[in-house]
Amino acid sequence: MSDAAIERESMEVDVLYVGAGPASLASAYHLVRQIEAHNKKAEQSGGDTIETPTILIIEKAAAVGDHQLSGAVVNPRAIAELMPDFVEQGFPTEHMCTHDMFYAFTRSMTIKSPIVPPMFKKRGYHVASVSNIVKWLAEKCEAVGIEIYPGFAAKEILTENGRVLGIRTGDMGVDKNGKPKGTFQPGMDILAKVTVLGEGVHGNCTKQLIADFGLEGLNPPTYETGIKEIWRVKPEKHQPGRVIHGSLYPDFFTQINGMWLYDMKDNLVSYGFVTPLNSSDPHNDPHMASQVFKTTPFMRDLLDGAELVRYGAKTVPSGGLYSQPKLYCDGAVLIGDSANFLNIMKLSGVHTGMKSGMLAAEAIVDALATGDFSTATLGGYMERYRASWLYQEHMEARNFTGSNDIAPIFGMAVNIPLMLITGGRGLIDPIKTHPDHEAMKKLWELAPEKRKKRQEIEFDGVLTFSKEHLVGFSGTQHEVDQPSHLVVADRDLCATTCREEYGNPCESFCPAAVYEMVDDSDKPGAKKLMIHHENCVHCKTCDIADPYQVITWTTPEGGEGPDYTLM
Ligand code: SF4
Repeated sequence: MSDAAIERESMEVDVLYVGAGPASLASAYHLVRQIEAHNKKAEQSGGDTIETPTILIIEKAAAVGDHQLSGAVVNPRAIAELMPDFVEQGFPTEHMCTHDMFYAFTRSMTIKSPIVPPMFKKRGYHVASVSNIVKWLAEKCEAVGIEIYPGFAAKEILTENGRVLGIRTGDMGVDKNGKPKGTFQPGMDILAKVTVLGEGVHGNCTKQLIADFGLEGLNPPTYETGIKEIWRVKPEKHQPGRVIHGSLYPDFFTQINGMWLYDMKDNLVSYGFVTPLNSSDPHNDPHMASQVFKTTPFMRDLLDGAELVRYGAKTVPSGGLYSQPKLYCDGAVLIGDSANFLNIMKLSGVHTGMKSGMLAAEAIVDALATGDFSTATLGGYMERYRASWLYQEHMEARNFTGSNDIAPIFGMAVNIPLMLITGGRGLIDPIKTHPDHEAMKKLWELAPEKRKKRQEIEFDGVLTFSKEHLVGFSGTQHEVDQPSHLVVADRDLCATTCREEYGNPCESFCPAAVYEMVDDSDKPGAKKLMIHHENCVHCKTCDIADPYQVITWTTPEGGEGPDYTLM
């Protein structure tokens, strides 16, 4: 059935949020409170009040929080501004950070740094599950009249004459050949005066908006892939209040990797390992790196007798200030990870995402008051950002990724220390960075011993696990009989050029074993690409790291994907 032949329902709201993450929920809540404040002032001064707007948040996950994954040690600055009594209101803190530490690890040694680098000072911050934070925030939003629709996946942005009109959700009930099944339900058009994109890292609608409206930042966006596991450890190994960050020597001479470890309630620990995607190594494998790290003496001891509870993966936007796109266009604004608001130097994105959403909400109040949803009014978001602590925080971290892009040793030993004493400037400002996929070297450019695929460890099924095994701990579910939401523009390329030039890096970089080169029964001796889309944990690594940029992550049916409860 052609798209034009499908009859679609449409609905209209005043403000539409795409994605129910911390940025959107904080923004919507702040919007309601700011409208109340505006109206109170207007009543006192005899000015015009704002009519109560309809505010809708749509979320692709089956339930709010199911697609949320973060460390997370939350700087309380933004939530305290949003809701000064957030603790009394039941903010889901697992523990407060009481002792922060920084370690350098080797494969056989653990070296505790006598000083904690300023970016890893987290005392007084809230160790939390971001999935639980958004569930809690969603309750607060619903209590003030904001509607939230989970299971609604935004497929594309709708535009007219250079203005964003809203979004179209994906069709449901289409078989793997693209034909409607008995359960077919066409996607609907949701039209809004202003559409707020808070759909997380490298979102499909955000990509479309940035490309169509020319919103690119000074630098291209860059990313890292974070692998997270939650383990239940023996009670004697559990240390509430502990927050550890660290890096694995000597790997950080070639790329800056990083780990975290935070204790949660009920003897749970949150362990994560972050791997940059600007690796020259076509075998760069974030899952393998995270498993190798668990074989260090420190992790072996911590996880001795422990039980794996959850697994997940997510890309982290690392580009910072110079990768941030223009934040607004006619009828739309970008917030949170969609606009690269995460502070990679502090590995911290919940408070920055929330604050960006709150600043956007204040510009939307002006738009609702004047009835002008063009850039003339929504541009006030940018002005508020520039005047905020959030901008200052990003200024101080602005050349972090660029420093490491030149060379990790330059970044770690020279420029980042200089940045700390020059307010983020360092030796060169701004440092130009490159799209991550451009860094990947072809096999013949590597030293001969590095050309073969590495299987760095044998998985023991106790401490270390295969991707296939771990996906079972992510709660991921997709209908098999639907078009793959991983769209590969040229599969011949996979079987021929990519196989020769890069050795099919998709088999390495995907942390969920979605891509597999299998024997091609039609061509003896040849391979073809098999996509296990049902395994996909929605991390977006493939869309970013693919060296030919022929993989596009799109939304599967609404309600599908991982279940990141507790993550
Ligand atoms: Fe991540 Fe892509 Fe693999 Fe899905 S297919 S888990 S988005 S790398």
